[in-house]
Amino acid sequence: MIQSMEKGAAYIGGKWVRPPGTRLYEVVNPATGERLAEVIHCGPSEVDAAVEAAHSAFQESGWRTLDPSKRERILRKIGDLIESNAKELARIESLQNGKTVREALRGDIPPAWDIFHYYAGWITKYYGHTVPVSGPYLAETRIEPIGVVGAIVPWNFPLLLASWKLAPALAMGNTVVLKPAEQTPLTALYLAELLEEAGIPPGVVNIIPGFGDTGALLARHMKVRKITFTGSREVAREILRASADSNLKRVSLELGGKSPNIVFSDADLDRVSDVAFGEIFGHKGEVCSASSRLLAESSISGELIRRLKDKAERMVLGDPQHPKTQMGSLISRTQLERVERYVSSGLKEGAALVCGGKRHLDNGCDRGFFFRPTIFARVKPHMKIAQEEIFGPVLSVMDFDSEETLIETANSTVYGLVSMIWTRDIGRAFRIARRLESGTVWINAAGPFDSAMPFGGVKESGWGREMGMEALKEYTQVKSIWIGLEY
Ligand code: ADP
Repeated sequence: MIQSMEKGAAYIGGKWVRPPGTRLYEVVNPATGERLAEVIHCGPSEVDAAVEAAHSAFQESGWRTLDPSKRERILRKIGDLIESNAKELARIESLQNGKTVREALRGDIPPAWDIFHYYAGWITKYYGHTVPVSGPYLAETRIEPIGVVGAIVPWNFPLLLASWKLAPALAMGNTVVLKPAEQTPLTALYLAELLEEAGIPPGVVNIIPGFGDTGALLARHMKVRKITFTGSREVAREILRASADSNLKRVSLELGGKSPNIVFSDADLDRVSDVAFGEIFGHKGEVCSASSRLLAESSISGELIRRLKDKAERMVLGDPQHPKTQMGSLISRTQLERVERYVSSGLKEGAALVCGGKRHLDNGCDRGFFFRPTIFARVKPHMKIAQEEIFGPVLSVMDFDSEETLIETANSTVYGLVSMIWTRDIGRAFRIARRLESGTVWINAAGPFDSAMPFGGVKESGWGREMGMEALKEYTQVKSIWIGLEY
């Protein structure tokens, strides 16, 4: 058991903080119900202390004025340390989230170390310009950090989503207060130890476990200059209100999706069925970019559904720590009940249940929140299971016959995060890609991500971008400096 898990403390100003008498709560393994740790639930005094520590560190620690090459070295080292601790981090991610260790080792930890390496490289390469203005002036733009950044993250990719925010924020010289999700604070606390080892000065990163009220205090704080948030649309609205009611802090939002996977009859069905399956049932479907709607050309939808059903029925659910397990436990009873409500709604609205639709209770799984991979066919665009983000292993299959109805259906939700298109007709693929309301379009590609490629949504999937050069703008502001040459 690592130190930070035993402590269950907040990490503020380079110290572990858990004063006697503070509120504590239990972090539980959702697959078994076992207690993993007892962790502080930060309230007003801890949030305030964390923001003050970040504020002083921004003013005084020398982080933002540190030689860029030295900051680069520290970020690089953070990436290296995540890499060398990968196995332990994946194990803890699996314990607290219920996903399999295999998934965490592939999908969570490598991109987390990569993002620190990637932004380490940007530190010496992102700078302002000398601008050709009219008149006798030397005019320069300077790229500056914003100040204290509040990062609020959800429970589905706890370390990775924290890293997507921390790496660019730190690279650009900001200081950070990170609020992990209440269900999954343990890898964030582990990260604090790695940050310290890498040489991050005290106060530059502060970590405050807690619930929604903890996040709300951060969002309202007058000394926080920016909130970067991943989570639900409901909480995003709260955060925007908090910004409006406090200091008009900047906000960037990543809010999930109802992403279409579009398959034409000329696609390679072997490949597509593998990808379509992984895209909705990987990580239990608790993925913001999950392809939860399969839009299949009518002539192949029957065949595609047969293949997916076959895979779903053979899928191995069970102990997330076991190497043969393919799907672990949903994060919580709340999430399980949410998925069950959507299944009932699909049935009530007339969709055809192809497989799943119920809990998996064999071999001790009744202690957790395991749910069979579920496929609905004959789903219509107006149904709830076609419109709302379920955030669980439920696939809605819809048929299409023409490009026009396909695009109308694909764009018919409030979301616009990612889309997939499978066809050999590249002209058609591009034609459709241009008309999709979506932050990312993958054409004949199995949902690739890369630290260099921006990721984020349109419509109610959010504002702003994570990763790539784009994210640097989220953590900087531009100062224009004019110098009179004839003074
Ligand atoms: P999910 O539905 O995935 O749990 P939420 O949007 O509810 O997503 O939560 C995402 C993160 O936002 C979590 O860290 C949670 O504690 C935090 N949070 C919840 N309510 C608020 C709030 N009112 N203000 C700020 N953060 C909040």
